Amino acid sequence: MITQAMIEECTGCGACADNCPKNCISMKYDKEGFRIPVVDQELCIHCGICKKKCPMKKDIYQMVERTKAPKAYAAFSKNEFIHKTSATGGIFFELANYVIQERGVVFGAVGNCLDGVFHTKAETLEQLKKMQGSKYAQSNTIGIYREVKSVLKTGKKVLFSGTPCQIGALYSVLDCDYENLLTMDVICHGVPSEKVLHKFIEELEQRKHKKVIHYYRDKEEGWKPPRYAFDYEDGTKESFVSTEIPYNRGFIQNLYVRKICTHCQFAKIPRIADITAGDWFGGGLGKKLDPDNKGLSMVTVNSPKGYRYLRNLLPVLFVKEYPIEKAVNESEHLGKPPKENILRPIFFEWIEKYSFFRVTEILVPNKIIYRVIRKIFIIFIKNKRKIEGKIRGNK
Ligand SMILES: Cc1cc2nc3c(=O)[nH]c(=O)nc-3n(C[C@H](O)[C@H](O)[C@H](O)COP(=O)(O)OP(=O)(O)OC[C@H]3O[C@@H](n4cnc5c(N)ncnc54)[C@H](O)[C@@H]3O)c2cc1C
Ligand code: SF4
Ligand code: SF4
Ligand code: SF4
Repeated sequence: MITQAMIEECTGCGACADNCPKNCISMKYDKEGFRIPVVDQELCIHCGICKKKCPMKKDIYQMVERTKAPKAYAAFSKNEFIHKTSATGGIFFELANYVIQERGVVFGAVGNCLDGVFHTKAETLEQLKKMQGSKYAQSNTIGIYREVKSVLKTGKKVLFSGTPCQIGALYSVLDCDYENLLTMDVICHGVPSEKVLHKFIEELEQRKHKKVIHYYRDKEEGWKPPRYAFDYEDGTKESFVSTEIPYNRGFIQNLYVRKICTHCQFAKIPRIADITAGDWFGGGLGKKLDPDNKGLSMVTVNSPKGYRYLRNLLPVLFVKEYPIEKAVNESEHLGKPPKENILRPIFFEWIEKYSFFRVTEILVPNKIIYRVIRKIFIIFIKNKRKIEGKIRGNK
């Protein structure tokens, strides 16, 4: 049975739904706009498998061989087109391309954050292209772990990529590692509430008097500073530096990431996947190694299997090794989860009553005057908590 305690720390990975022998778990949205498992009580036989298979209840690391001191690399694809069209350095595409050339199967996220993101498989380069790029919404994984298992049993090579909690979910469903399985996780900032994204887009459309058909990370003017773009139904496009968009400011400041993300048990070294890829934004390395600003990947190789794959990719990748400590220091989320935002509960209370633009203007402001007000507000909330704590202690 799915208990309330499980829901409190649920990542939305979907492993419980894939394991239920009665198929009586569906993933539905909670009031904040995150997918959680809901059990059809009439069909449930109380076997307890869902609880047993929940990755939050298991030591997933016991199932896999991980290097205690993984190596870190700054890397990117030597193929200019792949480099340009990927979110960062195209590491995923090069790994996936290798697996497909070996007649293997690749599992990853497709779709877009407005119409829905979901995991699927690719066996051709055409299918693979749809997996390129980061989609900033939680992907729907229903049925995918079972499908991976059945492909693994055929002996084909499999690459599975996703967020670290999805990698954990896959191992939990499989109950072991497979020699023909390679996993790649992304350095993860957490997943934002889809309800909040849709409210923002609706209000933006009202302001602009036109429909948004696509919202995505845009590398046309370079990888850094990160930019995001809106494509409109009338064929026009607008692109902004990430921090100019109120929705992105709220996401970056963790105002509406999933609650468990700020306690993510996978944001640590060693990482759960064989290979990890993210952005190497810190330390000014980008300017030195990627002067054309197409994107510098931070890669960590976390298992002997991961090393074997990386060695095969050396002809197609630019790769430079650095100490893992440098990578951890220069990445916000390689070794630690996103920070909790004290204003999160207020945000979710206000967003029910007021407009998205109004609420974020106050809670994640761009203007100096509002930033000062926000600081005073945070001090007030922290003091209120302290006083309440003392009162409770005196009782
Ligand atoms: C939600 C999210 C948050 C991220 N946060 C950070 C961060 O804080 N710091 C950082 O350094 N990097 C972060 N990244 C990783 C970064 O954006 C790139 O995905 C990573 O560098 C890989 O880039 P690439 O060029 O190798 O491959 P790309 O081709 O760009 O990556 C595509 C791969 O990412 C997977 N993917 C894309 N969207 C999703 C999704 N919604 N859910 C699951 N898997 C997905 C696909 O399956 C595919 O395998 C994040 C990615 C995502 C999806
Ligand atoms: S207890 Fe068994 S039947 Fe019931 S929801 Fe969990 S896995 Fe499904
Ligand atoms: S298995 Fe995943 S979706 Fe199910 S309760 Fe556990 S964390 Fe949530
Ligand atoms: S931060 Fe952790 S729990 Fe949240 S989506 Fe990323 S991997 Fe999953």
